[in-house]
Amino acid sequence: MTSRRTRERLVQRLREQGIRDQQVLDVMSTTPRHLFLDEAMAHRAYEDTALPIGYQQTLSQPYIVARMTELLLADGPRANVLEIGTGSGYQTAVLAQLVDQVYSVERIKALLDRARPRMRQLKLRNVQLRHSDGTLGWADKGPFDGILSAAAPEEIPRELLAQLAPGGRLVIPVGGRTQHLQVVCRRPEGFVTEIVEAVRFVPLRPGTER
Ligand code: SAH
Repeated sequence: MTSRRTRERLVQRLREQGIRDQQVLDVMSTTPRHLFLDEAMAHRAYEDTALPIGYQQTLSQPYIVARMTELLLADGPRANVLEIGTGSGYQTAVLAQLVDQVYSVERIKALLDRARPRMRQLKLRNVQLRHSDGTLGWADKGPFDGILSAAAPEEIPRELLAQLAPGGRLVIPVGGRTQHLQVVCRRPEGFVTEIVEAVRFVPLRPGTER
């Protein structure tokens, strides 16, 4: 697979769709998305679509990974970021190249077990993964100056807001059958919410699974 050329084409598509953050585009042009898929799916890695990773979950569409990352970084650099829903680990790998430290939690252990060696393979040493329920955040490691959720709750869990540092940003899809991407900023005057665009994510489910 000539993945460098296909990745460049993907980045061109992201630009056309309105992604402006050059850092984000640069990282996505060098991160090998095919490593995050099973062999049977790898040939489709640079299509701008969500792809199945098993357990009824999907690797997010590149556009949405780029958009959420751009929104997270919109106010300046982020030191420590919590990701909810590691999945394949692709978004985790993109974040790890743009922030100091990434903490990522996944409720399905089998997915986490596959994501872990990918971080090692890409020599991303600033990532900590944990098998746990992301609706509870990761209190020991917080507060976070960025939180990004790859799964949609009907309502934003209280714990995630509580673990947001002053000036912190939470990027999260919210809703059921219809969902909207939201950005919540913790400001001195309180939480300020911006509704960005309609999206479609897998649901944020409580509890964990093997
Ligand atoms: N960014 C990932 C997206 C995976 S899909 C990728 O591109 O591969 C969203 C993931 O969120 C799924 O793997 C799902 O199992 C996980 N998830 C859903 N509810 C969760 C919860 N409460 N805690 C942690 N992870 C959760």
